[in-house]
Amino acid sequence: MSQPAENSIKRLTDLQTLVSLCKRRGFVFQSSEIYGGLGSCWDYGPLGANLKRNVKNVWWNAMTRREDIVGLDAAILMHPMVWKASGHIDTFTDPLVDCKSCKTRFRSDNTESYLTKKQCPNCGSKDLTEPRLFNLMFKTFMGPTEDANSVVYLRPETAQGHFVNYENIQTTSRKKIPFGIAAIGKSFRNEITPGNFIFRTREFEQMEMQYFVKPGTDMQWWETWRETRWQFLESIGLNGKRLRFHEHAKDALAHYALKAGDIEYEFPFGWQELEGIHNRSDFDLTQHAKFSGKKLEYFDEASKERYVPYVIETAIGCDRLILAVLCDAYREEITPDEETGKPDVRVVLGFHPETAPLKVAILPLSKKAELQEPAMALRNELARDFDIGYDDSQSIGKRYRRQDEIGTPYCVTFDFDSLNDKKVTVRHRDTMKQDRIDISQVANYIHNGLRNFNAR
Ligand code: ATP
Repeated sequence: MSQPAENSIKRLTDLQTLVSLCKRRGFVFQSSEIYGGLGSCWDYGPLGANLKRNVKNVWWNAMTRREDIVGLDAAILMHPMVWKASGHIDTFTDPLVDCKSCKTRFRSDNTESYLTKKQCPNCGSKDLTEPRLFNLMFKTFMGPTEDANSVVYLRPETAQGHFVNYENIQTTSRKKIPFGIAAIGKSFRNEITPGNFIFRTREFEQMEMQYFVKPGTDMQWWETWRETRWQFLESIGLNGKRLRFHEHAKDALAHYALKAGDIEYEFPFGWQELEGIHNRSDFDLTQHAKFSGKKLEYFDEASKERYVPYVIETAIGCDRLILAVLCDAYREEITPDEETGKPDVRVVLGFHPETAPLKVAILPLSKKAELQEPAMALRNELARDFDIGYDDSQSIGKRYRRQDEIGTPYCVTFDFDSLNDKKVTVRHRDTMKQDRIDISQVANYIHNGLRNFNAR
């Protein structure tokens, strides 16, 4: 069987279809669902947890397996002075307006009806307060007393961990400029308008890399990193046609940035930022040097120059990338049912194998012990190499469809012939092609297939 023509494939057009699939198949659940849920907080179920770990691994490996980048895992709670120096206490704010009629609170800088007509987006009233600045950082208290001196913040970005550790890392790793620091970790923002599933949440995970360069080479490195990051996104399977680059206008730059732009992805709800690539200049190191009293410089042995490095940042939300990966992988195809031959809709998550939550599933044709035992033995053998599923209920056709819907690249069917010929049927997710393979060769076959996988 060959792959269906592109025009018989339907892509994801509404987010709700994906949200339902994610819940039904155990990718993502609403946080504290049995209590009615907690606004824009989400939990990753068994398949989602695997997917998330895989997405983090591909990012981590792409960064830290380079000779010029090292890893970091910094604490979420940091000294409050960090946020004074970084500018977050004074400027990490959104302007908010309250509607006096219906009490809706909304952002004044991105609400269409307010910008064009000075109207409430909910009830249309013009009886509104003036915009007031609202800080997005979550506050808590450290230690037993709850007063102004014990306030600490949940970090709103991971990047400050890179800056305050710059000297520790440079001296211990003995990296020469240019070099980078990569980290993955939770960040928190008290977003006013979260939403679109895991696109914008109040607790999320970021994957950020700060690349320290010699001043004067920064613009060149900014170009290089925007190319590199685009290639990365394509390499994990995102379709380049659904990516575009948006450079920020000079008057829209954050206070620390010399140049910035986003790689945007075309989500079902429109083009939105996926990853930011920023030239942060020497702003952060200079600020931390000023507030901490410690010199944060680099001494170039070769040229005997001393300078404060400039920083190129690449910043992507792990959860947001997962959403892009899910949206991009989703497809519905009209294909003949593999058992009845009748046309049928097949839902596939065509993940790149590196991100697929399961790489292979073992499907014994019958529940009889004579098949279950060797099938389970094969499952346990392959589990040494791969994240693996096992499914023995309902017809084989239904089981194939279930694996397609969660994006498993290979299904291995163990049947009665397998007992004699010591072969199994390997069925491919994308082509539905089947090969009969020696049991002893299955691991190699899957390894090779995953390594040589060609995205649709
Ligand atoms: P946005 O304009 O979407 O609020 P931002 O420009 O404030 O994002 P950055 O501070 O540059 O975002 O953060 C880097 C990346 O972290 C973003 O590109 C996005 O992928 C992710 N991110 C930021 N805020 C959130 C959030 N509330 N939920 C999920 N991911 C987020």
